[in-house]
Amino acid sequence: MARDDFSSKVKKKLEERAGHTCSNPTCGRPTSRPGPTYDSSVRVGVAAHIAAASPGGPRFDEAMTKEQRESIENGIWLCSFCAHAIDVVPEAFPADALRVMRRDAESRASIRANSNAAIVDVLAAIDEASAAVQNFINGRDIPVESRFRQLLSESHILLKRDETDEEGKRIWDEAGAYLVEESMRLHHSYMTEVSPLVAKALARISEILPPAEQLLLEKLVREAETAQINRLGRESLGDVFIRVRTLIERR
Ligand SMILES: [Zn+2]
Repeated sequence: MARDDFSSKVKKKLEERAGHTCSNPTCGRPTSRPGPTYDSSVRVGVAAHIAAASPGGPRFDEAMTKEQRESIENGIWLCSFCAHAIDVVPEAFPADALRVMRRDAESRASIRANSNAAIVDVLAAIDEASAAVQNFINGRDIPVESRFRQLLSESHILLKRDETDEEGKRIWDEAGAYLVEESMRLHHSYMTEVSPLVAKALARISEILPPAEQLLLEKLVREAETAQINRLGRESLGDVFIRVRTLIERR
């Protein structure tokens, strides 16, 4: 029976895209290694079909054309053990699961390839963002809350005395206006001086982190930023960057 096999070009591309590694995450075996002599190598990689190449085979899909069956989209790079396993128990490896397995394996291969080259850039971006955060913290010379509290207590004392009612209201208004103005100034300064560098550092970190960790990190930074702008946690954003830097250096 005719088999819709992959061309050698498709097989080579699948192997390269998988980074010469079995795509099964529970295996991850390198699919080539040095052989016993200096000029030999051992290859255990297989360009496996997601939907079988001929009728009756595992996951055969009669709706597919010959071109679709032999196209690179229908392939997954596996070691010979895993290639055998997906065909012996095809129920455990449906086509959709194999497509996800391939996508994830290629994503891991990209991260592996990029991480070492990018790591110096990532650390530099983190340091730049951390310095901006530190400047932002140091630059706030006026203790907003204490000034506001002082104005409030003055107005409070004055409001208790009838004859200075107008004066009390004036100070109260001044305190409110001061707080709004100061919050706006802080927010503006954060948005222009710190936020772009934080965003840049996050983008660089994303290049070397798997998607799940990226989401977690972004959540952490957003929460820290909010706390920072609201002055609830003075060093919180700086702390996040110190933690991330340590994590990346340990990888
Ligand atoms: Zn394998």
